Amino acid sequence: MQLKTFPGGLHPPDNKQWSAHKPIEDCPLPEELIVPLGQHIGAPAVPCVAVGDLVKRGQVIGEAKGFVSVPVHAPTSGEVIAVEDRPHPMGRDLPAVVIRADGEDAWGDLPAPLDIAAATIDELRQRILSCGIVGMGGATFPAHVKLSPPDEKPIDTLILNGVECEPFLTADHRLMLEESERILSGIAVLQKILGVRQTFIGIEANKPDAIELLSRACADLSVEVTPLEVKYPQGAEKQLILACVDREVPSGGLPMDVGVVVQNVGTCAAIADAVLRGIPLIERIATISGPALVEPKNLRVRIGTPLRKLVEVCGGTRVEPAKIIMGGPMMGMTQLSLEVPAIRGTSGLLLFTADQVSTRPEGPCIRCGRCVRACPAHILPTTIAAYARLDLFEEAEAYNALDCIECGCCTYSCPAALPLVQSIRYAKNAILAKRRKV
Ligand code: SF4
Ligand code: SF4
Repeated sequence: MQLKTFPGGLHPPDNKQWSAHKPIEDCPLPEELIVPLGQHIGAPAVPCVAVGDLVKRGQVIGEAKGFVSVPVHAPTSGEVIAVEDRPHPMGRDLPAVVIRADGEDAWGDLPAPLDIAAATIDELRQRILSCGIVGMGGATFPAHVKLSPPDEKPIDTLILNGVECEPFLTADHRLMLEESERILSGIAVLQKILGVRQTFIGIEANKPDAIELLSRACADLSVEVTPLEVKYPQGAEKQLILACVDREVPSGGLPMDVGVVVQNVGTCAAIADAVLRGIPLIERIATISGPALVEPKNLRVRIGTPLRKLVEVCGGTRVEPAKIIMGGPMMGMTQLSLEVPAIRGTSGLLLFTADQVSTRPEGPCIRCGRCVRACPAHILPTTIAAYARLDLFEEAEAYNALDCIECGCCTYSCPAALPLVQSIRYAKNAILAKRRKV
């Protein structure tokens, strides 16, 4: 069968065999949880607890500030022992609420379950907001914002992202296999909010068991499971939309411009919990893997758990890791310490040995064009990166630098080991900073 896909991209070794067959395990609670108030794109939450307060599991500890923001909730019961800046996976100190767990793990008052059929669309959206649901594929964009498209952008298609194209990561795969009913309930909520006429679940063909299971589960629903070619970055929104429904999001545009909303399968499951059980986003499934780790696993992790705890639960390290990445190896964030906490966007934690970390020296561009062929955004990485290195940001913008999805395909494919995506990200930040000033 000809599998659907997009032009460009590449095939890094998927390395999913380490954890793909490991059922989800609950990570034990740590003694202290560090809960950052900024775990989503948009304005960070504002703390509403103080040192000495006793909190319950699920209680709001940070309130949303503005439309593009969501509240933050206590991942367990215990005492607030600090409200202060702490190291954050983004690489700098940011405000956080630190909770000493009391071991009771006692729930606070949760909002009453909603009946999907009886609830209004506004009630469903409000519940998704108040439960702090954000995109769990790593982007952490507040879900209620995506679910509030303007009237002039009618949505007719919902696409569930079960692609998980980053090497090593298997958390979404396990979720689809073990907790598919949560995903199906979430789909019903999303379909009601958006009023779509078609729904797809995109899954890469390297997860045949998930494709089969969800195809059977969806047989009587108006939901089509779409097997996709195994290719990175098949899970990027624009590439997923092109593959599933053959619509091209225009340069500078959003999925809503072509009538589509994309949600990660983990986000969809969290939406079901929020609506049907009143449970806020206080935990997620993450893959802990990599050659430096003793036993790779898929763990259900409370938000705020220090990364060191996740490594301990996986038997510790075989050797001192030379590189630690939160997320996947292509788009994840390098971490300097295991003391930072797991956050809502923590899809994985990968520990690499020294022989797997590239130390190739940077050479001159040999004009081979591999970066251009690999670029799924159809831009010219080498040209934009060259402008970025010269601080010529207007020229970089003219070459559509802002269309770069930061997938890293260009850097990965470059024989001269040029840090192309890093240069392009630098240019994008400069262009966006200038736009904010104007
Ligand atoms: S330029 Fe951006 S979108 Fe294109 S390959 Fe590089 S990182 Fe990916
Ligand atoms: S892949 Fe590297 S060497 Fe080849 S054209 Fe692009 S920047 Fe130059």
